[in-house]
Amino acid sequence: MPNNPYDWIDKSLSTIQKANWYRSVQTIESLPGAIIKLEGKELINFASNDYLGLGGDQRLIEAAMAATKEFGTGTTGSRLLTGNRELHQELEQAIANLKQTQAALVFSSGYLANIGVISTVVSKRDLILSDEYNHSSLKNGAILSGAKIIEYNHNNIEDLTNKLEKYRDNNRRSLIITDSVFSMDGDLCKLPSILKLAEQYNSMLLVDEAHATGVFGNTGGGCVEHFGCTGKQLIQIGTLSKALGSLGGYVAGSKKLIEFLKNRTASWIYTTGLTPADTAAALTAIKIVQQEPERRLKLWQNVEILMNFLETKNQQWGEAKATTKKYQSPIICFPLKNAAEALAVGEYLKQKGIFAPAIRPPTVNISRIRISLMASHEKSHIQQLVAALKNINSH
Ligand code: PMP
Repeated sequence: MPNNPYDWIDKSLSTIQKANWYRSVQTIESLPGAIIKLEGKELINFASNDYLGLGGDQRLIEAAMAATKEFGTGTTGSRLLTGNRELHQELEQAIANLKQTQAALVFSSGYLANIGVISTVVSKRDLILSDEYNHSSLKNGAILSGAKIIEYNHNNIEDLTNKLEKYRDNNRRSLIITDSVFSMDGDLCKLPSILKLAEQYNSMLLVDEAHATGVFGNTGGGCVEHFGCTGKQLIQIGTLSKALGSLGGYVAGSKKLIEFLKNRTASWIYTTGLTPADTAAALTAIKIVQQEPERRLKLWQNVEILMNFLETKNQQWGEAKATTKKYQSPIICFPLKNAAEALAVGEYLKQKGIFAPAIRPPTVNISRIRISLMASHEKSHIQQLVAALKNINSH
């Protein structure tokens, strides 16, 4: 018997280190934006989810400050007790409006929205069909629910169909869960086909629009709008922390669904309401998403600029594109041989003035450099990125 019950931590840490999976934080010393300060050095930032460049926007900052002055720093309790403010309802109305749904409900994070909603709508006697590349919050929500979890091959409609055929009948309710933009690969789910299957097999469908809201669709409604699926019966989850530049999460759907969740979802009921500052900042961001489509256009122009540079200037990276389908969204990934190589490339890019860190297991199976483009990038930033990428071999 070991005499210290915590000895295992040392061993586990050394295993993590040996595999080059060790993680540590890096401190950003400036406002969010295309240029950030890290360790005293200015770098071009290709690592944020701040797709529309709203994270450091003065209007969001001012809205957060005004709400803090009026309502204080914290909400002091659950939404069902002392934590509810008019601002929360305004934000929920704005989300429902953006998503064209009957109602919406705001959570303290997107992660809490996913684990809470999934574990509320299905339980032990039910079935979950989950894309193998889904975000951790979807996977853990599924585990928490106690439902039977069947993973289907990434974006593989045939496999999903076969699994629905095999398992659907033996279970009470069924729920298909998928990211709409896959966070570490940047490709899109095949929403219209999945929706059709959901209808055919009497299954609910939950789609995580974390990386799509504000980015996709003519009005920034997300992939649901982009694919022409607005108004269809589904459960939409999202975050306030990416294109909306704030913090928090949400679910959007029918009035009845939201009413039910307010009565049953533990990660909404037993936690403190979102701060006035975060709520007001998100509300301002949604107005900007709707009033300034030029931000979305600029973002997509930047995606095109990078695509053109990579195709014309550097064949190696051009080939990598085909395997990662990286031009479907502002998330563009360059797979690398292993974690050590990904770390080395991340460090090399930093030396060249670019912040685009390595993404390694267990987050993903294949180590990579993940680049996310923002509306606030200038052409010259993208040029510098391409120049820095030139000498790297992608796999
Ligand atoms: N879903 C997806 C697809 C995500 O990428 C993330 C954030 N990385 C989340 C949910 C969680 O959102 P939040 O950061 O608001 O907890």
